[in-house]
Amino acid sequence: MRILISEDDAALAEALRFALTQSGFAVDWVANGIDADEALKSSDFGLLILDLGLPKLDGLEVLRRLRRRNATLPVLILSGREDPEQKVAGLDLGADDYLVKPFSLNELQARVRALLRRGHGASAPVLTYRELSFDPATRTASINGHALPLSTHELSVLEVLIRRFGRVVSKEQLVEQIYTYDQEVSHNAIEVYVHRLRKKIGGTGLAVRTLYGRGYALDYIEPLT
Ligand code: CA
Repeated sequence: MRILISEDDAALAEALRFALTQSGFAVDWVANGIDADEALKSSDFGLLILDLGLPKLDGLEVLRRLRRRNATLPVLILSGREDPEQKVAGLDLGADDYLVKPFSLNELQARVRALLRRGHGASAPVLTYRELSFDPATRTASINGHALPLSTHELSVLEVLIRRFGRVVSKEQLVEQIYTYDQEVSHNAIEVYVHRLRKKIGGTGLAVRTLYGRGYALDYIEPLT
C-alpha cells in the first residue's frame, strides 16, 4: 500500500518516511500543497498524512479538494497549531484523525494502523480466503495462523491481489501500488515477485493465475461454481 506524506518540515517527513517504510509501506513525500494535490489526483494512495500548514496550498484546501473528488482514502492530519478550530475544520472536511506536533513515531504508527484497520467501506478488516489471511493494518500475511514470511514487495503484490480477489489486476496496476515516485519501476521484477508469492502460497488452495496480456488474478485453484 502506498502512503503519501505531505509535510514541509523535511526532517519530520524523513523520519515519518523511514518509520513507515520500515513497516512495509511504499511511502511518497511531497513538501507543498500543490504537489500534494497533484500527487493525489494522479496516483492511488491508501492513506494520506497531511500537515495543515503547507506552503503554496493550505492543507485544509488540499483536503477540501480531495473530498470534493469523492476520494475516500483515510486522512491523518498533522498540525503544529494547537488551535481547536483547525482540528474541527479538518474533521469537518473529512479528515479521519488528528495529531498535534510534537508526537511520537510510535503514536503515529498506532494511528495509521487504526485508520487502516477501520478502513473505508471494507467489509472485513482482515482478508481471509481459505487458509490465507492478510491483515492490512499490521501488513502481515499468514497461512492457517502461521506467519508467512514475505518481502515488502511480495507483500504489496499480495495485498493488491487479495483486495481484488478473483479479479484481474494488470501489471500496470501492480506497479502503481508498489513503487514510490523515486523508485525505478521494473516490470520484470513484478514477474519475480509474483513467482515467489505463487510458491509461498502453494498448498493453500489458492493460486495466482497469469492471464496473458491482461495481468494476474488471485483465485481458488478450482473456482467455485
Ligand atoms: Ca508545516
